[in-house]
Amino acid sequence: MRKDNFIIKILIILTIVILGILAIFVVNKSNESNKSNETNKTIHLSGKFNSLDIKGQPTLGKLDAPITVVEFGDFKCPPCKLWEENIFPQLKMDYIDTGKVKFVFINVLFHGDESVVASLSAESVFKNSSLEYWDFHKKLFEAQSEGAFTTDKMIEIAKTNPKIDTVILKKDIEKQLRDKELDIDSKLVEKYNVDRTPTIFIGNTMVSDPFNYENVRKIIESELKVGN
Ligand code: CA
Repeated sequence: MRKDNFIIKILIILTIVILGILAIFVVNKSNESNKSNETNKTIHLSGKFNSLDIKGQPTLGKLDAPITVVEFGDFKCPPCKLWEENIFPQLKMDYIDTGKVKFVFINVLFHGDESVVASLSAESVFKNSSLEYWDFHKKLFEAQSEGAFTTDKMIEIAKTNPKIDTVILKKDIEKQLRDKELDIDSKLVEKYNVDRTPTIFIGNTMVSDPFNYENVRKIIESELKVGN
């Protein structure tokens, strides 16, 4: 009898422990989903504009695509490189190449002089050989971990594309001719309260977790439904 009582006690304790673990799991899951709902912020834009101000920015995809995705990114930011290499190719394949999304990149200068040199170079390439912009953009992210972004490094990257005029590029970097463009971008960073990179907007929604492609996909699909 004593032995039986002991076994029953053990079974009761085990049941309590298992129920406890299950309860913790359920609470955590529910917190996670609340968090995800809370942080997909909708930015209410004032005046006549109902979308982000992207005039004159490099744009990839069909110009009349129904949805606009805007990245506020920094060529020197490691998470931006991760996003570029892991999430962007899926977005491109599913939505940009199919004409549903146009993609816009706006410079953020959170990493000091190296961000400025890279952004000046990208703006110069966009101005002087706009068709080569996205190739150069991709190569900047690829080169992020290869050492400091200097004028020489920019020229080295640009030289891999014979359609980019590296003489003009060098002059633009040294004279900071595209400074005006960086001012425009910095004002947008302030206007839309961008405090981290990458910050991704889908329409007017600031995406809480841009590294969760399923989340990105769901927001795009719901915006596509609203548009129809
Ligand atoms: Ca720009």
